[in-house]
Amino acid sequence: MRETGLNRRRFLAVGAATAVVAFDPLGIGWLTEADASPNGIPVPRLDGELVTDDAALAEAAEDYGQIVHERPRAVLRPGSVKDIAKIITFAAAHDITVAMRGQGHAVHGQAQAGAGVVIDSRTMARVHSVAADRAVVDAGVTWSDLIKRTLASGLTPPVATDYIGLSVGGTLSVGGIGGASSHHGMLVDNVIALEVVTGTGDVMACSKTKNRKLFDAVLGGLGQYAVIVRATVRLIPAPSTARVYNLTYDDLPSLLTAQRTAVADGRFSYLEGQVVPVEGGWDYLLEGVAYFTAPNSPDDTAMLAGLPAPKSTEIAELPYFDWLDRITALVDQLRPLKFPNPWINLFLPDAATDAYVADLVSRLNPADVGGPILLYPVPRGRLTTPMVALPDSPTVFLFAMLRVVAPPNDDTVRRLLADNRAAYDAAVAAGGKQYPVSAIPVRPGDWRAHYGDRYSVALRAKARFDPHGVLTPGQHVFP
Ligand SMILES: Cc1cc2nc3c(=O)[nH]c(=O)nc-3n(C[C@H](O)[C@H](O)[C@H](O)COP(=O)(O)OP(=O)(O)OC[C@H]3O[C@@H](n4cnc5c(N)ncnc54)[C@H](O)[C@@H]3O)c2cc1C
Repeated sequence: MRETGLNRRRFLAVGAATAVVAFDPLGIGWLTEADASPNGIPVPRLDGELVTDDAALAEAAEDYGQIVHERPRAVLRPGSVKDIAKIITFAAAHDITVAMRGQGHAVHGQAQAGAGVVIDSRTMARVHSVAADRAVVDAGVTWSDLIKRTLASGLTPPVATDYIGLSVGGTLSVGGIGGASSHHGMLVDNVIALEVVTGTGDVMACSKTKNRKLFDAVLGGLGQYAVIVRATVRLIPAPSTARVYNLTYDDLPSLLTAQRTAVADGRFSYLEGQVVPVEGGWDYLLEGVAYFTAPNSPDDTAMLAGLPAPKSTEIAELPYFDWLDRITALVDQLRPLKFPNPWINLFLPDAATDAYVADLVSRLNPADVGGPILLYPVPRGRLTTPMVALPDSPTVFLFAMLRVVAPPNDDTVRRLLADNRAAYDAAVAAGGKQYPVSAIPVRPGDWRAHYGDRYSVALRAKARFDPHGVLTPGQHVFP
């Protein structure tokens, strides 16, 4: 949405009935025109709207995980960056928590703010410019919309998450990993500059050469220091086609050998893998993709040379965008069903991966997962963003159990959350880290251990950029 008078006009015309006009620090909280109170402190004038209607609050108390439901007291639909700055300044002054919400695909309440304010970034979703090597976008833009725009100019972001309906701001606050990360790192490793609003309500630009400490804190910073309002992201020439190689193995060692061989020589543009339940056991799938621009198609024999012989090989070809968009229809179908998704995402050090995964899978009941189990390597050297905590290992493996509880059952969710906790503890004992897009019950000391040496840097950044501690409470990073 453009930051013009249009939003203000819309707010005055449509928002007046339900829009918040004041905050009552002693009484019932946010006040609309209908709730006259002598205690009301006027809310700053906004280009967008601050609302308290049931539908808006209920939506902000939900996410893809369907496990945590913290109801905010108000939702801001910003009409401008100034709106975000005004509301964060106001919140900091009155000790009200604030979280930015993108597409709400967190799985454990990370974008929620119980009794606080949720900022819905979907009203800030403009692609400002696309140049030969970069695009400037609002935080509420989805990668899908950005990629459609950049492909029109023959360009693409170097990496995409498996599902591209996520917001730029939501993914840059966590990391953003995908099959091309083995070449290009995470989404956060491909950011040139940011515009953010800190926890003190200051609008600031930052990059590697300007306000570096802020830039380093915010990328992968779980919304703790500032909210992202705009990003300048790197673009590269887009391929036309994805040639997909699915190699199925009977056993984990063969998959890991094949993945290690492929990641070492970088033969695939995209490298992922899965542990797949089958009758009587598990299959192990390598998913390699060669991106190319027709007619320069890859040589299949060369692509598969030197890998352990799989029990089956499937080769398919898709237009590049269709490949990136491959799971959108499935996610769009699943989301309205509101099944709980107690996901766990871990990074394992290379040396611990074989034993950790073999042990966990040997005890795993496929019914306790229900969704894909991802397993793939990324060279540690490609992952350069300081706030993304990773194992100390030249290669790290992403291991993710994307659990779905269908039909919903509270006891099963509780049991799987406890299982996630145990799997997390075992991973940490083996030198692993969580990728914090998970549903893992938090314990005191977890984040200190997660960040290790960088915890003191995180504490200093919190004290400097969000001294009132109002931002993004659903991550539970700071007590
Ligand atoms: C179906 C599905 C597939 C996924 N696939 C991948 C994948 O392949 N790779 C991967 O890395 N991840 C993946 N994820 C995880 C996903 O990247 C994160 O959950 C991401 O945070 C979701 O983005 P969102 O826009 O929905 O954010 P939300 O759920 O709205 O927010 C997530 C967190 O980011 C914060 N946040 C949101 N916007 C901003 C902002 N503008 N500034 C600061 N903080 C902000 C929120 O407060 C919250 O803490 C997947 C998730 C789902 C549900």
